[in-house]
Amino acid sequence: MDRKVLIIGAGPAGIEAAHVLANQGVKVVLTEKHDQPGGNIKNWVKLFPDFRDAGEVRKELSAKLDHENIDFFSNTEISELSFNDNQWIAKNSSDKIFKADAALLATGFEVFNAKRKEELGYGIYDNVITSVDFEKMYKTGKILTKDGRIPKSIAFLNCVGSRDEKVGNHYCSRVCCINAVKQAIEFKELIPDSRAYCFYMDMRMAGQFYEELYRKSQEKYGVTYIRGRISEAAGTMDNRIQIKAEDTLSALPMKMTVDILVLMVGIESSISTTELSTQNNILGLYGFSKGQGLYGNDNITDKKGLFLAGTCKRPLTLPETLADGRSAAFEISNYLTKD
Ligand code: SF4
Repeated sequence: MDRKVLIIGAGPAGIEAAHVLANQGVKVVLTEKHDQPGGNIKNWVKLFPDFRDAGEVRKELSAKLDHENIDFFSNTEISELSFNDNQWIAKNSSDKIFKADAALLATGFEVFNAKRKEELGYGIYDNVITSVDFEKMYKTGKILTKDGRIPKSIAFLNCVGSRDEKVGNHYCSRVCCINAVKQAIEFKELIPDSRAYCFYMDMRMAGQFYEELYRKSQEKYGVTYIRGRISEAAGTMDNRIQIKAEDTLSALPMKMTVDILVLMVGIESSISTTELSTQNNILGLYGFSKGQGLYGNDNITDKKGLFLAGTCKRPLTLPETLADGRSAAFEISNYLTKD
């Protein structure tokens, strides 16, 4: 097929779509703003729910780019995307131009900036960290407090930046409940004689094998789940974190002091998603891109030849993102054949 597709974003959705299209003989130009492909997988050590090595998955994805029909451009952030003369035209900050018959936005997500929840103390107290910081520390093989102590207790707080009217994100990020379960198990495996607590509004175990892992975390690892939201976190004189919460099952306020508080930060739209969607009038809710809706074809936009894949549309798990990339490739291929 003598047609060219521009894919913006070399995360899981973009790579998967590129690979399927390239195998069909379509020429693919794949751009990535970072120096490496793989998107947010780089932030993880092990994936949920099966503790698969994230580095391996990333390597397998990256290997798919080694294809004669794929031209991969790293460190290339697309700042402008428009349709003219039956072609999609993209420009990066150094005015390099890419032209193609169809374009796919696979611009992914960013994690919520926990500093926006000032009352939780992130950026103020050393031992308040995010789930992304937890992964970075876990990569070193140790979880320690900032002053080098082995923590005896840890609390995970779900829904930071999601399901929160104050920050304007009413939606659920879908992945942070199971990630809290995974990280609590990892913590208990590293430090078995410690205590791990998880504060939640509801535990949303919607994926395959999530419920089983949730159960295992309680039965095998003794993780304690407390239904309630932390209203405030403050540092103590001995560098621990005091948290104030309400146990919403007993309707009683409670205070607890832990060595580390982990904020389970949710998914937000990336700046590229919001900017490129705005330029092309496909901006949906919360800065995500808008396809044809949940019951229509979600990979298709109302702009001719412009497609969507992955978390630029809404929060998705990694398997869902990969499947969505393949689905987008199918739609693009159909479009190119018909067009
Ligand atoms: S997945 Fe869980 S922690 Fe994340 S936003 Fe939804 S309910 Fe909250």
